Amino acid sequence: MKIGIPRALGYYNYYPFWFGFFGSLGIEIVLSDKTTKKLVSEGSALVVSETCLPVKIYMGHVLNLLNQKGVDIIYSPSIQSIDHKIYNCSKLRGLPDLVRNVVKKDFLLIEPTLDKSEKNQGLYQYLYESVAPLGITDKKTIKKASKVGWAYQNNFTGMTRDGMHPAEAMETAIKGKVVIKSRKNNYPINIAVLSHGYNLYDNHVSMNIFKKLENLGVKAHVSENLSVEQMNEGLNVLNTSLYWANELEISGAAGSFMTNKNIDGVLTLTAFGCGPDSLMVERITRYAKRLQKPLLNLTVDEHTGEAGFITRIEAFTDMLYRRKRSNIVQNLNKQIKIDSERQEVVYSRDNIVKV
Ligand code: SF4
Repeated sequence: MKIGIPRALGYYNYYPFWFGFFGSLGIEIVLSDKTTKKLVSEGSALVVSETCLPVKIYMGHVLNLLNQKGVDIIYSPSIQSIDHKIYNCSKLRGLPDLVRNVVKKDFLLIEPTLDKSEKNQGLYQYLYESVAPLGITDKKTIKKASKVGWAYQNNFTGMTRDGMHPAEAMETAIKGKVVIKSRKNNYPINIAVLSHGYNLYDNHVSMNIFKKLENLGVKAHVSENLSVEQMNEGLNVLNTSLYWANELEISGAAGSFMTNKNIDGVLTLTAFGCGPDSLMVERITRYAKRLQKPLLNLTVDEHTGEAGFITRIEAFTDMLYRRKRSNIVQNLNKQIKIDSERQEVVYSRDNIVKV
């Protein structure tokens, strides 16, 4: 049995779980190809132009699976709410409806619903709906498979928390491995890069942002490197509470990083037309000013050019280097002043007499 999973949206958060879960039930996963310009324009052609870039990309991946990968079963969950009254945006909630209505082909759409704000629509019901259309209905078997899924997902989370880049952690986790590395941070500049996983780890969307930062001598920190407790404290810093499903990873992480003195600046990457992001970034911007943390917000859509993107990142990084240098010089001057005042006291005539 083969199911097609689009390499987009939830893939970047939950793929290790799906890999373990479906794999242990003998279901082969076929992933769509990596995002390309062609794939984006094919996906964009299916939906109205106001739709956010990640959803357009998702549609392109669905087409890729159906047209290029020869799959006729697509797995497209509807994640309504991930905890009590913590919701996804309407586009993610209605994702399978959108797929069903715009992709004019014959295929089986597996569309389980997870809605933790509703009774009887929790995780096990979601998992049941994930495999029941394939004829797997034995609850014990499903529960056992979910344990395998969690083992993969927990390995992934453990490695990202330890500081591994999520893309590397994903590759390592699905090989069934856990690698813990000792990491020295010799980078002159540290910045927090905040966005949804599907924006950051899709290299076409983020235009290889991590590589670009690395080349500029910048260490990028992401929300996956933080613990839930740290992000909850971050929400308090921003004086907000959870409403959106990704709010912990964006607002919570922002609050945590903005109060960390080792973080020199914050970079947010948002998709044009994203409602939740516009609200979250507005709050982050206000608090960045209050906490005097430099902030750069980059907005992307399918027309964003790489040259302008790089220029803004370079300018931001230059500013952080200058700011850091001037802080070092100021601190040095302060220290020299204190030292010379001390020397004046030590070597003043009175002190010499006293000595
Ligand atoms: S959260 Fe924003 S970027 Fe993500 S799917 Fe919803 S509208 Fe699009």
